[in-house]
Amino acid sequence: MALIELVGVARHYQHGDIDVPALDGISLAIEAGEYVAIVGQSGSGKSTLMNVLGCLDNPTHGSFHIGGQDASQLRADELAALRRERFGFIFQRYHLLPHLDARANAALPAVYAGLGANARSKRAEALLTRLGLADRLHHRPNALSGGQQQRVSIARALMNGGQIILADEPTGALDSASGAEMLRLLGELNDKGHTIILVTHDPSVAAHARRVIELKDGRVLKDSGTPAHHSLPADAPQELAGTAQTGGLRRLQVQWREAVLTAWQALRGNRLRTALSMLGISIGIASVVSILALTDAARGSIEKDVRGFLSGRIPVWRGNPALPPGAVARSFRPAELDAIRALPGVKDVNVVRELQLTARHRARDAGVTAIGSDAQSLAARKLKLVEGRYFNALDQAGSAQVVVIDDKARKSLFKSGQPALGQTLLLTPSGLAAEVPGQPAAAGAALPMTVIGVVEPDGGGISLNFSGGQVLLPLSTFARKLDPRLDTDSFNVMLDFSVPPARVREQVIHRLKALHGVEDFDSWNAEEEFQKIQNVTAAMAALFAGVGAIALLVGGVGVMNIMLVSVTERTREIGIRMAVGARQGDVRLQFLIEAVVLCCLGGLVGVGLSWLGAQGINAVQTQLKVQVSWTALAVAFAVSSAVGLLFGTLPARRAAALSPVEALARE
Ligand code: ADP
Ligand code: MG
Repeated sequence: MALIELVGVARHYQHGDIDVPALDGISLAIEAGEYVAIVGQSGSGKSTLMNVLGCLDNPTHGSFHIGGQDASQLRADELAALRRERFGFIFQRYHLLPHLDARANAALPAVYAGLGANARSKRAEALLTRLGLADRLHHRPNALSGGQQQRVSIARALMNGGQIILADEPTGALDSASGAEMLRLLGELNDKGHTIILVTHDPSVAAHARRVIELKDGRVLKDSGTPAHHSLPADAPQELAGTAQTGGLRRLQVQWREAVLTAWQALRGNRLRTALSMLGISIGIASVVSILALTDAARGSIEKDVRGFLSGRIPVWRGNPALPPGAVARSFRPAELDAIRALPGVKDVNVVRELQLTARHRARDAGVTAIGSDAQSLAARKLKLVEGRYFNALDQAGSAQVVVIDDKARKSLFKSGQPALGQTLLLTPSGLAAEVPGQPAAAGAALPMTVIGVVEPDGGGISLNFSGGQVLLPLSTFARKLDPRLDTDSFNVMLDFSVPPARVREQVIHRLKALHGVEDFDSWNAEEEFQKIQNVTAAMAALFAGVGAIALLVGGVGVMNIMLVSVTERTREIGIRMAVGARQGDVRLQFLIEAVVLCCLGGLVGVGLSWLGAQGINAVQTQLKVQVSWTALAVAFAVSSAVGLLFGTLPARRAAALSPVEALARE
């Protein structure tokens, strides 16, 4: 069987209702190694025949065998494989990719054959050097003359072997010298065993061929036939050797690299457009990352510091803003506390030994909270010792007149740089204790206290103390010197969680109200408050999530739009890639990757934005430490990729569905 065999091949075009037979029953056989010119008037069907021969187009009728394979029965990817392995195309208008240099243009077919980048470049350089373009390897097509561009396209045709070279009017756009050179090269290739099929309307060009087929109205008018002395080439052309098909995995790797690189070039070539279409994605990703960072930070500060500090108890204190003016709130008696202790869900009742008083050091004074403290107080109040020492057993037993102050009290009482340890403070009971009738206690007497230590809030937690600072004294000192009353002004109800905290609080309020006759006290349920804070956090997260989702949707649609435009703009590029052997999957992959790269770039900018935002938030306040975590980065990457895949699918499918001939013909 001949290399190429057509029997009754027809190709009809549909012009509305009119059926145009561009090819109308063509039968011919071409042997390997022939040099055939196809001639005929314009519109006689030469290009259509060429496209069918080159597996760019399918005949509507008839059978078409190539190398013994029935090409009319092949699917798109199998046709692509035939183009890749057997054909090399040379077009009248070169059809080089404008953004690639000569070497990359020549090397293009090998990308789809799965040849590695180095091997590809080497082979392209060798071919271009043989064609006299050694000093033009890195010129782009617009920096090359027509003859040079046509030689690049010869190199491209030979890249994968080019057993059969199809040239449609190869000299049509060249000056006579370049045209002659072109014909000399084609003759040389034929001598080496390549089968050359050339389309021309120029008899002087056709004269170079060894066989002339003349078409008229889609039929063969004249065919000089295979020359009688024609001998088959001994071997496949030598060029085939270098491009043995590579394994699937390697091919995939090569394809990915090419697709990512092409995507990058395409995006770089359109910087403004790229930036604008990235915007929506950036905002969306910034929102998503911010949600994660903020929820993390909120959880960190609220749940770790405050919750650990206050959870499991309900503070109750004397006084209520709802009391009529002038009404005096009563303290809580030990018997009342016992009644609370007996309530279900209450583990214990801890009396808070605290007093607001005035501390004085030399000429400075400040309102501070004096706290009767035992060994657990530091941990319970989330304080850590930064200077000096804490109370020991001796201090407790002997009611020693020593204090440990926090950094806030230190700032209000000491000049900066002035040592606090060993200094004496004068504590003057004031405020509440002195005002309570029948509780004269230690009112008026200033107590000298020696500072033995300084504490600071541990772990940067939120300080819930709003006075001028905290002054800790041994519990025994507090009871003996400051507040000997058995009654207390505030206490903590410790929960055992057998009853919901809100229910316990209700009961405590109910019981105390019954005992006091009026609600002259107030309480605070940490659990409820945290629930509120969490609701606020959740609402904020939902808001951000909503903004993020909408931005991502809008951004995704924007990306899809831009990609569709890009497919339209680059239709010819797609045609060229398909002509040199790209599968539909390759084209799809290329555009899909471009969409994903675009979205991931947008995502990266989004992550950058939220990082900047986090730095801003951290700079203006210290209570919330916002950090963009690696998890957030991973989520951003995953979401961007997903958006790219989702919204890139339609453009990619559209690109892959293009027919090679139509894509090539599009201007
Ligand atoms: P040639 O290359 O010999 O000038 P063509 O093969 O390009 O001729 O065209 C042959 C006939 O088919 C012409 O009548 C042309 O109008 C028609 N034709 C070619 N391509 C198309 C197409 N894509 N759609 C409709 N008609 C076409
Ligand atoms: Mg034509």
